[in-house]
Amino acid sequence: MSKHIVILGAGYGGLLSALTVRKYLSKSEAEVTLVNQFPTHQIITELHRLAAGNIAEQAIAMPLQKLLKGKDINLKIAKVESFSVDKKEITLSDYTTLTYDALVVGLGSKTAYFGIPGLEEHSMVLKSTEDANKIYNHIEERIAEYAKSKNEADATILIGGGGLTGVELVGEIADIMPKLAKSHGIDPQEIKIKLVEAGPKILPVLPDHLIERATASLEARGVQFLTGLPVTNVAGNVIDLKDGQQIIANTFVWTGGVQGNPLVGESGLEVNRGRASVNDHLQSTSHEDVFVVGDSAVYFGADGRPYPPTAQIAWQMGELVGYNLYAYLENKTFETFAPVNSGTLASLGRKDAVATIGANNTPLKGLPASLMKEASNVRYLSHIKALYTLAY
Ligand code: NAD
Repeated sequence: MSKHIVILGAGYGGLLSALTVRKYLSKSEAEVTLVNQFPTHQIITELHRLAAGNIAEQAIAMPLQKLLKGKDINLKIAKVESFSVDKKEITLSDYTTLTYDALVVGLGSKTAYFGIPGLEEHSMVLKSTEDANKIYNHIEERIAEYAKSKNEADATILIGGGGLTGVELVGEIADIMPKLAKSHGIDPQEIKIKLVEAGPKILPVLPDHLIERATASLEARGVQFLTGLPVTNVAGNVIDLKDGQQIIANTFVWTGGVQGNPLVGESGLEVNRGRASVNDHLQSTSHEDVFVVGDSAVYFGADGRPYPPTAQIAWQMGELVGYNLYAYLENKTFETFAPVNSGTLASLGRKDAVATIGANNTPLKGLPASLMKEASNVRYLSHIKALYTLAY
């Protein structure tokens, strides 16, 4: 009898699991159901561009129906409300339930607020195309309002968190600001773009010389960095920093970190700080019929440190799980996860970037780094047969 595979989430890990498993199991061998809250697969590594109006939404949000065409995969657009790995049951937002022979959990991560009072209520985040559109529309509205009111809070944009998300976002915003301000008759110098970082430096994953390069590049475009200053409280548009200073900003985007999806912690799977523990086959350490991919899983490298929650790791996990689902259901030998680290690429707006490439961490900056970032996106789009989106 045909087995049922259910895949929760169509991000990098979930989509690649679905596409890969079909290379090994036909429809008569396994029914595959992919559940996603949006009807699109979103290239979240490019969301910062949408948040600044620098790219069309169609270029980074591909209809899943199109990506899955001819693959015999059931697509279910609904939110996962909860799932129980002991009952083998998933409850969806449309009140339907699903059951499975093998489950893949690829539900991504959630924004971490670290219990900072007022933060969640009074900030925007950058986790989906919906969030990115909201940020862009909000910035435009505030600039338009500033043209009338000259209220400095409308001219102040604050990014909380100087990791890759925050820095890539601030770079795009800095790029569009001269044109946007001028279109409202405002001198761009009047707009204050600030980024606050708790740690001593932005982009701590990169070597110091690239951090200096990124800082100089962004400062030259008007970004002000406040480092070593955690956000401690937010009340309305007033953001308190640890040294007692307050920033009054009508645009505040929080990019201060991510945590495991709470649904994973509540599912009955064995977890480590909210992310599911997996073995070398990316199989849950507590439930052998459950595989976990992307940010929902925690996988430790040989150095004993967990791999960071990145798109490149999620993509590789998805492909491995696609095969291991077949191995599990057909009693074949599992493959072991051996991720390849292609490096870290941080865009600093449309024309600049910094990166470390490959296992040797070869540093790159400027145009070569920007081109590498572009190439990495094209490589992924080609892999999922979505190169058509480059036309947008
Ligand atoms: P992150 O956790 O990497 O960075 C968050 C930053 O916010 C940290 O530097 C942290 O010190 C700071 N922070 C935390 N609390 C704060 C506070 N109270 N006040 C001020 N600052 C505070 O999060 P991210 O940038 O969203 O990245 C998440 C994951 O996604 C990472 O693994 C990252 O590598 C990956 N990512 C990769 C890319 C890329 O490859 N280009 C882009 C975006 C995200």
